[in-house]
Order: sequence, then structure tokens, then C-alpha cells
Amino acid sequence: MTIHQNLIAGEWVGSDAINNINPSNTNDVVGDYAQASAEDAMAAIVAAKAAFPAWSRSGILERHAILRKTADEILARKDELGRLLSREEGKTLAEGIGETVRASQIFDFFAGEALRLSGETLPSVRPNIGVEISREPVGVVGIITPWNFPIAIPAWKIAPALAYGNTVVFKPAELVPGCAHAIVDILHRAGLPKGVLNLVMGKGSVVGQAMLDSPDVDAITFTGSTVTGKRVASASIEHNRKFQLEMGGKNPFVILDDADLDIAVEAAVNSAFFSTGQRCTASSRLIVTEGIHDRFVAAMGERMKHLVVGDALKADTHIGPVVDQKQLDQDVDYIAIGKREGARLAFGGDLARRDTPGFYLQPALFTEATNRMRISREEIFGPVAAVIRVRDYDEALAIANDTPFGLSSGIATASLKHATHFKRHAEAGMVMVNLPTAGVDFHVPFGGRKQSSYGPREQGKYASEFYTVVKTAYTFG
Ligand code: NDP
Repeated sequence: MTIHQNLIAGEWVGSDAINNINPSNTNDVVGDYAQASAEDAMAAIVAAKAAFPAWSRSGILERHAILRKTADEILARKDELGRLLSREEGKTLAEGIGETVRASQIFDFFAGEALRLSGETLPSVRPNIGVEISREPVGVVGIITPWNFPIAIPAWKIAPALAYGNTVVFKPAELVPGCAHAIVDILHRAGLPKGVLNLVMGKGSVVGQAMLDSPDVDAITFTGSTVTGKRVASASIEHNRKFQLEMGGKNPFVILDDADLDIAVEAAVNSAFFSTGQRCTASSRLIVTEGIHDRFVAAMGERMKHLVVGDALKADTHIGPVVDQKQLDQDVDYIAIGKREGARLAFGGDLARRDTPGFYLQPALFTEATNRMRISREEIFGPVAAVIRVRDYDEALAIANDTPFGLSSGIATASLKHATHFKRHAEAGMVMVNLPTAGVDFHVPFGGRKQSSYGPREQGKYASEFYTVVKTAYTFG
């Protein structure tokens, strides 16, 4: 039995391991992955702290070369890594390979950003003095990631952290250690000095908590649930450290009377059900104006008949399994809650049996929902969506914004007036016109408002705001 070990201070270590299970077939063990202890997490933090002075002063060409090499290897192995991703997380092979390519693009982008970090030079308000504003690395960055994007989210946190000269302690979600181990192995072989990047796989309550409790972690970037995000926030305030949170969403997708029906249905199906609805940018509130409501619901029903739920690795599968039993139970509970609240389960929502034991759920669409129901207010994180009928655009916008979350917000319309107004007035970090609420570029900022996010944006050149600190230097003469 090969154990995929943790990387601490440049050494692969760890003998206690757990099985990584395929949600499409629970008899299939993807591999054995070491479980770090709290002491391992502390050792990783010590190693990252020791490696920081040299790495923070390393040449930008060295960082550029390592990130480029990593991007190239991920791309060259996209089919193998995409398969590993689909096998451990359950998104379809096409989605798994697509996410792997995106991870390569992110490393490539930040390889370039390592060369482009710039500052400002200004005259002082006092004579014969110059002012320079520069950005410096923060120090040891703790990275805590969720299971739903096992390669892209680690990539978009690790790449900028390293590009800007920080050292890293990385804790992936326990459910998906495979992709995390693979990219750390690639980065390690690409030439990172010892201790610059440390991998500690294991339980959030143990390994993650040890990171939160350490005064030697200078910044923490987190993606996951609101509950854990708040824990990260309070522990970080305690230590006066920088932190960045990407949490849930309850993203609205508005469909107006004048929408192109095909575009609206395709975008809604994608937003609500692709990646099994397990995206923070998924839409689970479809807000539809009266004139198109019945046609839209009928077309959704027709489209949903052709969605194949099955083994993530099979070529004809559109929607893979739910990630695990706990998440499946949560999805099924919300379907029951929706019915109890008086929404009508119009299509789907049944557990499905396939050739192999897995967590299969038919996508569910509720109609006659209101925005007050729990299925419209709480993040379900599964293939479950609700149609909310509204009179007109004004009511649609008000309901779209009536949520504690604010990550992504979409609209299907042929009206320039409504599209323009929606872009200005949607209370969300990202707005989509005639596009699904999920599916974003890798070179521009990603993040939300309200309960969805906290701190500077991730991705694109805006990432430097989190992974650097600003210094202002004055020189006389
Ligand atoms: P969590 O917030 O528990 O997990 C996210 C990460 O935080 C994981 O790596 C987890 O570790 C870690 N973690 C857990 N507890 C602690 C802690 N005390 N200290 C530090 N780190 C910790 O989310 P779940 O994976 O349990 O998912 C639950 C719900 O969260 C989902 O149903 C969904 O609603 C939402 N979610 C939202 C995501 C988003 O992108 N917005 C992504 C994932 C989930 P480990 O898992 O190894 O225990």
C-alpha cells in the first residue's frame, strides 16, 4: 500500500492514512492519504517561517520559472489529473479536465505576475524628499480549501502566495487530498526550496484549527462554509493577522419576459445543476417574470429529462454524484423542507440507483416557491433549485437582492436597459448577463459581498492586495 504523504520542511512524512473514496463508486479507493496531526501542522508552520526570509528575497525569475514549470506539467497531465479529480470529487470528466486546465492557466498567469509586481514613486509634500510605495510579501500564508474545486481553488491561492514571495502551509479538504497532493508534488519537483510549500492533509477541526491558533501564521485565506469562515475570522482577529474568506452563495438568476428562452434554459440548467450544484456560484433561485414563467418551467422540465446522472467517469454523464453521504443527506433534507414549506417539486429530486454504489440524486426543480422559504434563503449546495414567480423586472431585482449573500447574480434578457440597470444594481460581486451565474475567467477578480466574502478579491492582479503588504519609504536628498 502506497501512502501519499504530507510534505513538511521538504520531506514527505506520515504513516497514519485514510482512504480517499470515489463518490461514483464507494467500493473504489482512489488512494491512501496521510493524516496530519496538530503537531505536524505546527512543524509545517515552523518550516514555513524558517523558509520565509530567503524565499521572500528570492529573485522573481526563480519564482517565475517554478510557477511556469508547474503550469506546463499540469497541462501536460490534464487528462490524468482531471480523471483523478473526477474520481475523488465526482464532477464529470469533462468538468474535471476543464478545471485542471484552469489550474494550469492560473499558475501560468501568476508566473507572469511575479515579474510584474510594481509600486509607485511620488514627490513628497516636503521639499527634497521622495516617496516610494512598494509591496512586500506578508509572511507565512495558511491556505484552507474546500472539496468542491479540488485543484482550481488550491491553484488560485498557492500560485499568488508563492509568486509574491510568501511561504505556505496548505490544508486541503479531507475529502479531496488527491489533487492537492498531486500539485504539491509538482511544485516540489519544480524546484521550490525546502519549507516554502508545506502540505498538511487531515481534519479541519485538528489541522485547520492548529493553523488558526498559531501566532506564526501571518495570513489565512479560506474558502468553505460560513460557519467555518466565521471561526477563521475570530481566530485571525485574535492574532491580528490578515484574512480572506470566500463563503457561500444563494445566487439569483433572473429570467425576464423578453429573454431568449433557449439561452435562459441553458444558463439556468448550467447554473443550477452542473457540477452537481456544488459550486458557490451555483444558482438555486430562478426568478421568473409572469409572461415567460409557464414556458420557462415547461422547457426546464423538457431539458431536465435529458440530463444523465451517473458515474463521473462515463462519457455520457452530464451530472456526477453528490460528493458524500453527509452532503447527500443535506440535499435530501432540503428537498423535504421545500415540500413542507409549500413549494411544488415539479421535476426530479429522487435518489437514483446506478451499477455501482454512489451518491446519486436526480436534479430537483421546485416551482411556486417564495423568497421567504428556507430553500430560497439557505445554501443547499446540491442540484436543487426553486422557481420564484414575479410580476416584473422591478420585483425581480428586489427579490434577487433580498438575500444575506452576494456572490454572483445573473439575468437573461434581450433588453439593454434592463441588463444595464441590473449590472449597476445587483448586490453581488459578480454579475452575468445571458450567462450562467457560475463559470468565471481566471485572470479577473473573483469574490462577493455581504455574507459571501470578506477581504480583498482573489485572482487576477487584484490578488496582490491580499498576498502583499504595502510599505511607504521616504528618502531625503
Ligand atoms: P467547511 O467550511 O467545514 O470546510 C472547508 C475547509 O475548512 C475544509 O478544508 C475543512 O476541513 C476546513 N475546516 C473545517 N473546520 C475547521 C476548523 N475548525 N478550523 C480550520 N479549518 C476547518 O465546509 P464543508 O466542507 O463541511 O461543507 C459544508 C457546507 O459548506 C457545504 O454544504 C456548503 O454549503 C458550504 N461550502 C461552500 C463552499 C464554497 O465554495 N462557498 C465550498 C464548500 C462548502 P475538512 O473538510 O478537512 O474537515
